[in-house]
Amino acid sequence: MQHARSQELFQRARQLLPGGVNSPVRAFGSVGGEPFFVERADGAFLYDVDGNRYIDYVGSWGPMIAGHNHPAVRQAVKQALGNGLSFGAPCAAEVTMAETLTRLVPSCEMVRMVNSGTEATLSAIRLARGATGRSRIVKFEGNYHGHGDSFLVKAGSGALTFGVPNSPGVPKALADLTLTLPYNDFDAATALFDEAGDDIAALIIEPVAGNANCLLPRDGFLQHLRELCTRHGTVLIFDEVMTGFRVALGGAQARYGVTPDLSTFGKIIGAGMPVGAYGGRRDLMSQISPAGPVYQAGTLSGNPVAMAAGLALLDVIQEPGFHDRLEAHGNALCDGLEAAARDAGVPFTTSRVGAMFGLFFTDAPKVDTYAQAVACDTAAFARFFHAMLDRGVFLAPSAFEAGFVSAAHDQQTLEATLVAAREAFALVRAG
Ligand code: PMP
Repeated sequence: MQHARSQELFQRARQLLPGGVNSPVRAFGSVGGEPFFVERADGAFLYDVDGNRYIDYVGSWGPMIAGHNHPAVRQAVKQALGNGLSFGAPCAAEVTMAETLTRLVPSCEMVRMVNSGTEATLSAIRLARGATGRSRIVKFEGNYHGHGDSFLVKAGSGALTFGVPNSPGVPKALADLTLTLPYNDFDAATALFDEAGDDIAALIIEPVAGNANCLLPRDGFLQHLRELCTRHGTVLIFDEVMTGFRVALGGAQARYGVTPDLSTFGKIIGAGMPVGAYGGRRDLMSQISPAGPVYQAGTLSGNPVAMAAGLALLDVIQEPGFHDRLEAHGNALCDGLEAAARDAGVPFTTSRVGAMFGLFFTDAPKVDTYAQAVACDTAAFARFFHAMLDRGVFLAPSAFEAGFVSAAHDQQTLEATLVAAREAFALVRAG
C-alpha cells in the first residue's frame, strides 16, 4: 500500500491543526504511524486518497450502523437539502424525531436535541444539578462522556489513549466535584453512596463501557446503581451515546432491563450528521428552558437536514431482525479472531454485545474491569493494528476503543478480515 497523498496531507495538516487532526485519536498517537485521509466511504469500506480500500470497523466511531453512505439516508438528506439548511425556527422533523426517540426509548418521556454527545452529557448533568440542588457527580474510571470539564477526570477514549485522563484547564474546584468509581465494583459504589450519597446530584455511566476498550456490565451491576440512586435521590444517567440503538433497538437500558432517569444519545441518531440528544423523566425534562429554569440552547439544534438523516437511519434499524443479524455477525467475527489468535499462540480474548466489540491482548480469559483493560499488552495491539491496516482492515487506532460492525459487513468481509487476522496474529507472535 502506498500513502503518498495521505502523507502529504498530514504534513500540511500538522502545520495548522493541533496534532494534524480535529479529534485526538484520529492521529494514531498510541499505535504509531500516520493516519490515512479518507476520500469516500461506502457500505463496509473506506477509500483513502491514495486509492486504498479498508474494511472499516470504526464506522465513524458509531453512527454508521447500517454501513456508510446508506441510500435511504442519502435520499432523505437530499430531499431535506432542497428546503434549506437551517431555519432557527421549529420544523416538523424535530417533532417526528422526538416522537421516534420517546417511542424507541420509553424512559425518555421528553427529549431535547443538541449537536454532539458532549453537549448531551454536559446538559444532562446541569439538569441533574439544577433539579437536585446538589453539586457533586459520580462517574466511572475509563468512562468517557465527551470533553466537558466535569468529565475529564479519569476519562477514557483519547484522554486514556494519550495518557492525560485529567486535563489541564479543568479548574480544580470543578474537578473536585467529580467523584470516580471503578467500573463493575459493587462494593465501592455502595461505600461511596453510604458516605456521600445525599450530596450526589447525578451518577453517569456508559452502561457498556466503550471508551476503555469494551467492558460489559457484570450481572446486576446496573441494577445495583439504580437502587443506590433511588435510595439517595441521585439522578441516574445512562450515557447511551455509543450503546443507544446499538446493543439493542432500545439501547443498553432495554437490553439490561434497567431504567435510568436521564439518557444521553449521539452518533446513530444523527446518521453521521452532528447530532446529540438527552431525554428522560418528564418532571426532570420540564425543568429545561423555556419550560423551566435550567438553561440550555443551540442555534443549530434540531437542524432539519440532521433530523432527516437521523430519522432515515432510525427507520432502517427498526427493520425486523436488524440487531439480531448484527449480533450474529459480531459474534462470528469475535469467535473467528479468538480462534485465529489461539492457532497463532497469541494470548488474546474479546468481548462483544450487539454490534460492539473489544479486543484484548491478555492471558485473562475475560476482561471486564478498567484495571484489567489498561493492563493489556498495548504494544501487541499496535502491531496487530498495523498488520491489519496493511492488509486493508481498519480497526480503531487505540487499544482503548470499542469496535463496531455494521449491517454492511457481510460474510465476504468477515472472511477477508479473518484471513488478514491470521497473518496479523502470526506477526504479533513473531514480535
Ligand atoms: N459519550 C460517549 C459514551 C461517547 O462514546 C462519546 C464519544 N465517543 C461522547 C459521549 C461524546 O460525544 P461527541 O464526540 O459527539 O461529543
